Amino acid sequence: MAFNKRVKIKTILDTNPIGTEVTLMGWVRTKRGNKNVSFIALNDGSIITNYQVVADPNLISEEILKKCATGACLKVTGNVVASQGAGQSSELNATSIEVLGEADPEKYPLQPKKHSMEFLRENAHLRMRTNTFSAVFRVRHALAFAVHKYFNDKGFFYIHTPIITASDAEGAGETFKVTTLDLKNPPKTSEGGIDYKQDFFERETNLTVSGQLEGELAAMALADIYTFGPTFRAENSNTTRHLAEFWMIEPEMAFYDAEDNADLAEDFLKYVIRYALDNCAEDLAFLDTRLQEEEKVKPADQRSEMSLMDKLRFVVDNDFVRITYTEAIDILRNSNPNKKKKFSYLIESWGADLQSEHERFLVEKHFKKPVILTDYPKDIKSFYMRQNDDGKTVAAMDILFPGIGEIVGGSQREERMDVLTKRMEEMNIPQDEMWWYLDTRRFGATPHAGFGLGFERMVLFVTGMGNIRDVIAFPRTPGNAEF
Ligand code: ATP
Ligand code: MN
Repeated sequence: MAFNKRVKIKTILDTNPIGTEVTLMGWVRTKRGNKNVSFIALNDGSIITNYQVVADPNLISEEILKKCATGACLKVTGNVVASQGAGQSSELNATSIEVLGEADPEKYPLQPKKHSMEFLRENAHLRMRTNTFSAVFRVRHALAFAVHKYFNDKGFFYIHTPIITASDAEGAGETFKVTTLDLKNPPKTSEGGIDYKQDFFERETNLTVSGQLEGELAAMALADIYTFGPTFRAENSNTTRHLAEFWMIEPEMAFYDAEDNADLAEDFLKYVIRYALDNCAEDLAFLDTRLQEEEKVKPADQRSEMSLMDKLRFVVDNDFVRITYTEAIDILRNSNPNKKKKFSYLIESWGADLQSEHERFLVEKHFKKPVILTDYPKDIKSFYMRQNDDGKTVAAMDILFPGIGEIVGGSQREERMDVLTKRMEEMNIPQDEMWWYLDTRRFGATPHAGFGLGFERMVLFVTGMGNIRDVIAFPRTPGNAEF
């Protein structure tokens, strides 16, 4: 049973075992050649580079060679030899080829040519077999690993918060309902509403929009925790930055104030990006070139001034700018696009919610650096954010990235019971349902803080892809749940 005695292409490229016999398994990207020899470019997913298999028709039958078409899966045994051709240092002289899975070239959707992103989204079940998507998903893996490594090394504990909840943490109401009731004939209350008492959980439930509230409970015991799980938002925003199902990382720390929170977030973002730079060199180099080609076809004024690698290094090497919301409003109000009425939403007065066009102006045009915006008006932020002494603002922070806009949202939490319950009253948040949350303020409360990073926005930034649908394997967006 030597089926799995295969060697990964990455290992061959790392160790260059010239003169040894190895078995490779992988998928054919292309085949070319003539009567006397065939060259098969094989890819096994371990690395972006294809490995060249040289097949001599005296050793490999014509019937087998015919089946080595783009998309087919092969087991190839042969000898590693120094390569004659340019572009690779070694290649495999095949002594036997077994076709593990054929792919009919007439029917296989992925051809060795450039496909549009839209076509590849429609073929998301196959798109990971392309260079672009395999690179994206290897980088995505490295980033996820770096997240866990960062927090583990710092003594944070990974908490799995529930996916089904009865609370709508943001109070935004953009939740997916969870029910086992018969939708055609649900039980009714005497008032005519749906009787959720008869539902599975004996109450109304939904998919979580955030693990923060439960994360806060854990932080009141383990001090430094983080969550990393799926979150769901039924917001009908068909943008390149929103998914209906996305992964969020939410650290929550006891004994942290707003400044500690911002320091951690900046250090964390830099660490994760540096990890990708150090560990995904080949994939990032490929994605850098891909982005440059994509930029070339854009009109000159829309082109990014920096390459992908420049952008990543720039974030790692520079301090983020920290300004208050109030300072940002002054900058925006006096900005050219505001005066010339170029913004879709003009900034007229203090209190306005910032749109992505404003966030991107601050980051990309004004500061040309990531920006940490703090101390937002309390009326545009959530009930749990700590009120500042001015009575108007809360200790919130949003981190804004070039090309992305908001990548992190966080705050110091309101630990003072009287201030918190007053705010909940003003915002019509039912306190009886939240008794468990309020217990943390009743018993052993302490200053604490945390933030949420949308994982796909991070992957989007690091890979330089243009659409969030292209950095998650099977995107969920309005009207789209095919795979
Ligand atoms: P936005 O204003 O961009 O919709 P938000 O204010 O709703 O973001 P938060 O509720 O603070 O975002 O969520 C924390 C983080 O989760 C955001 O900073 C962002 O990185 C990410 N995020 C939020 N909504 C989505 C979404 N629909 N798809 C992907 N990531 C998201
Ligand atoms: Mn949102």
